Amino acid sequence: MTGHAIVVGGGIGGLATAVALRRIGWRATVLERAPELGEVGAGMSQAPNALRALAELGVEAEARAVGVPTCSASNLRRSDGRYLQRARPGDPTPLLAFHRADLHRVLLGAVPADWLHTDAEVTDVRQDDGGVTVVAGGAQHRADLVVGADGIHSAVRTVLWPDAEPPRHLGRTAWLGVTDVAGLPGDLTGSVTMGNGDLLLIHPVSRGRAYWALLTSQPTAGVRYDDEKAAALDRVGDWHQPVPDLIRATPEAAVIRTDIRELPPLRTYVRGRAVLLGDAAHAMSPDRGQGAGHTLEDAVVLAHTLATEPTIDVALARYDAERRPRDQATARGARSDGARTASSAGQRLLMAMVRLMPAAVWRKGLAPDGNPTWRWQPPELPVRSS
Ligand SMILES: Cc1cc2nc3c(=O)[nH]c(=O)nc-3n(C[C@H](O)[C@H](O)[C@H](O)COP(=O)(O)OP(=O)(O)OC[C@H]3O[C@@H](n4cnc5c(N)ncnc54)[C@H](O)[C@@H]3O)c2cc1C
Repeated sequence: MTGHAIVVGGGIGGLATAVALRRIGWRATVLERAPELGEVGAGMSQAPNALRALAELGVEAEARAVGVPTCSASNLRRSDGRYLQRARPGDPTPLLAFHRADLHRVLLGAVPADWLHTDAEVTDVRQDDGGVTVVAGGAQHRADLVVGADGIHSAVRTVLWPDAEPPRHLGRTAWLGVTDVAGLPGDLTGSVTMGNGDLLLIHPVSRGRAYWALLTSQPTAGVRYDDEKAAALDRVGDWHQPVPDLIRATPEAAVIRTDIRELPPLRTYVRGRAVLLGDAAHAMSPDRGQGAGHTLEDAVVLAHTLATEPTIDVALARYDAERRPRDQATARGARSDGARTASSAGQRLLMAMVRLMPAAVWRKGLAPDGNPTWRWQPPELPVRSS
């Protein structure tokens, strides 16, 4: 079966969907509200499951060329710098860290330019027996199917899932930044440091830079500080190096803050010929580093079902059945991990357990097949276009 889909959103999810559809011989029209395609934001890591999805999308080599192995999953530290577990030379580093813009560019490079439309904010979606009509910026687009890849505040979901609960704040916020690391002291191979209910993550990213993220409790959403960088430093300025110098070295304008939200679980990802994917379907707490990874998985599975089932309706039903349980289980796990690390008592317990764990057991969990989420294998796409 071949066809034409409108993909709403040109983020990682929308582009991955367009790449996947192209692989199976479908056409796509990508509608992005921003005037230009590109990722704002800082960094992220991708685990073996997501890297396999990228391979199935045909962009593994390009992704590996801009991804940097990170020891963040192996190096767990206390705020005074003591390692509770530490990577040894030669240990596997199954996570690759990316600047978001790099990963976005890799996907963008695999989408035909004439599929992409910017300044195209989708405001309405209508369905009839023949397919879907999507309204964007005064223009109407027709297709067999619409994919809502338009993020946590999805317009497609708002129009077609009026019963869905809105995203909820999880009582936490995050400061994020990327900066050059030349001359900075300390271990920049990737780490997680915990203290006082705060968590600071470091990943090395391309071109001699590092990405850092500081997650902290913030009961009220929407709080803003006059100087976000100073507010972040207030919390961790006396932690071990390179934490304070890394934040100090980050240009003020490059410090981003985002409240942590999730989407309450949907009962279905499918309404007629409309389907949700990525954060539009399952925005989750970042504590397992899997939101975008599961988005890449979604794109591969959606294309596989469209390529192998006899009708679009059957394909979408299978997509929903395959993806929703996995996405929602990971989201539940991420929420509970986040709740644990957001409290000083929870952190102390976790750190005590990690410290007592034999290094061999710790390392086994960090092998590419070391945890169930990472073991996911993509279905093989019947490739009709490279
Ligand atoms: C602090 C933090 C750290 C994270 N770290 C990781 C990590 O390490 N690893 C990982 O895998 N995930 C991570 N995530 C999750 C990841 O960022 C998201 O899951 C991922 O970006 C979702 O991609 P998406 O394409 O579904 O949505 P988005 O990235 O939100 O993209 C949606 C796109 O749709 C466009 N759009 C929105 N509305 C409309 C409209 N009406 N019409 C047209 N276009 C529209 C937007 O402009 C945007 O381009 C993290 C998240 C946070 C908050």
